[in-house]
This record gives sequence, C-alpha cells and structure tokens, in this order.
Amino acid sequence: RFITFEGGEGAGKSTQLARLGARLAESGYGILATREPGGSPGAEAIRHVLLSGAAKPLGPAAEAILFGAARADHVANAIEPALAAGKWVLCDRFIDSTRVYQGALGEVDPKLVRALERVAVAETKPDLTLVLDVPTELGVARVEIRGAGRPPDRFEGEDLAYHRRVRDAYRQLAEREPNRCILIDASRRADEVAAAIWQAVTSRLIV
Ligand code: C5P
Repeated sequence: RFITFEGGEGAGKSTQLARLGARLAESGYGILATREPGGSPGAEAIRHVLLSGAAKPLGPAAEAILFGAARADHVANAIEPALAAGKWVLCDRFIDSTRVYQGALGEVDPKLVRALERVAVAETKPDLTLVLDVPTELGVARVEIRGAGRPPDRFEGEDLAYHRRVRDAYRQLAEREPNRCILIDASRRADEVAAAIWQAVTSRLIV
C-alpha cells in the first residue's frame, strides 16, 4: 500500500505521517516512512542541491527535471523495494507537489510534468493521497512559529498570495481525482486530524 501526504507549508504533513506510521506499526505492519525530495541516497544528494540554493541558477524546466531525477531514484531504490517486501509506504510529498509547485505555480510546461511522471513513477502511483488543507494564514503562522531561529531554505519566504495559490491548486487537484485523493481539514487539533486520516485510510484501504 502506497499513501502520499500533500499540502502547503504548515499543513502538518510530517506530524500526521509519523502518527499514521505509528498506528499502522502498532497493527503489526512494516512501514517505510519517507519524504521528497530525497528518501534514497541518490535522491538525498539531489535534495541537497535543490534546497541549498545551489540549483538556483537553473531555469524552471531544468529544476523540474532534477526533482524528477530525485523521484526516479527514490521510486526505484526505496519505494518499489519496500512495496515488493509488503510494507506500507508513507511519503511526504510526491507527484502532486510537482504538479502544484512546478506545474500550476511554476512555469513548467504541463507536457514536461506529465513526461517526468511517466519516466520517474510509471506504474508506482499512490493508492491514496491525503491532501492536508489549512487556511493560508494559519499555515503560514504555523511555519513562522516552527521556523523561528532556523535559516530559511531556498523555497521559503514566499508571500501570502503565493501560498493561497498553492492551496487552491491542491484543492482543485483533489477534486479532479476523487478516487485517489481525499481532502482533509487540517486546521483542527493534531488528534482530530489524525482521527480523520485514520478514518479515511480504513474506509479506502484494507487495514
Ligand atoms: O514542506 P516541505 O518542507 O516539504 O517543503 C519544501 C518546499 O520545497 C516546499 O515549500 C516547496 O516550496 C518546495 N517544493 C517544490 N517542489 C516540489 C517539492 C517541494 O517547490 N516538487
């Protein structure tokens, strides 16, 4: 089983991924908890290039190809082996992040976004995608509290209007693929969000 977590910053993806992983592990399942960009040694090397700012001189297409290269390595060397071993794979960000950040908000040709998906992901599509949705102001406030004293990475520091567009793009994407995506109201307390996610997982997948 392959579950991805998506959403803008401050939605609580990593917290909720850890909680779902713990709950599935309690039920006796093997888990791979992973994240993008990164998640395998090759993809982590590319992550460093992307987030450190070293890739800043690249244009949007070249940057998208780097995200795609990281994903191809992650899928081939971490996700597919874990699925083949019968584990549940929980991934923080996946194809929908590219569709939103490089596709809807970046200047990347949708044809390139689709081509990268075909090459990097092929048949390894998520069974379920949890789109964590929070009002933009709340998400940004959460990130400001969490990030106090931490240096911003290459992708931080965008304005409210940008985050609003990210949120809208995710909501549209969830609406377009209702069989795979579930929109989760992530403005609630972490416990309540975790309960909603558990409900979504058990209603869609056999646990
Ligand atoms: O929330 P997280 O730490 O995963 O965010 C990393 C940042 O990397 C995001 O805010 C986003 O701006 C950026 N990103 C991106 N394209 C992707 C994945 C992440 O621009 N495919």
